[in-house]
Amino acid sequence: MVTYRELSFWNRQTYALIYSMYSCIFCRIIDGQISEQILYQDERVSAFRDIHPVAPTHILIITKKHIASVNDIEEEDESLVGHLFNVARQLAKQEGVDQTGYRLIVNTGPHAGQGVFHLHMHLIGGQRARYPIG
Ligand code: 5GP
Ligand code: ZN
Repeated sequence: MVTYRELSFWNRQTYALIYSMYSCIFCRIIDGQISEQILYQDERVSAFRDIHPVAPTHILIITKKHIASVNDIEEEDESLVGHLFNVARQLAKQEGVDQTGYRLIVNTGPHAGQGVFHLHMHLIGGQRARYPIG
């Protein structure tokens, strides 16, 4: 039995990642432990409707990789982040909101009200958005 103090730095990082994935609702959705109707998925991202929609179209596009927030994006994630936009664009068209317009929102940290610490983009459309954005 190894105590936490005896773990190497690498093992501590791995332990922290596994723990955060275990307790992360979006990782559990990706894993199939919580069932959601998946609108789109590929090897890098998954998309499903927000449980508390704020507009007729409210889709969450999430990375399959557990990244806690924009603050935790790494250089190697650059194309993955670009891919989120690409999928958002396709889903906006599929939902028929590409011409009327839509918002893509990525909340980061407490002041933005981030509730789920797993990188995701909100695709919100189907009605005129309220301004100003606070
Ligand atoms: P955030 O505030 O972190 O940007 O947004 C998290 C979003 O995830 C919220 O809009 C919330 O309604 C949504 N959400 C939280 N848990 C679940 C869930 O289990 N299923 C779905 N579909 N959406 C969820
Ligand atoms: Zn996660």
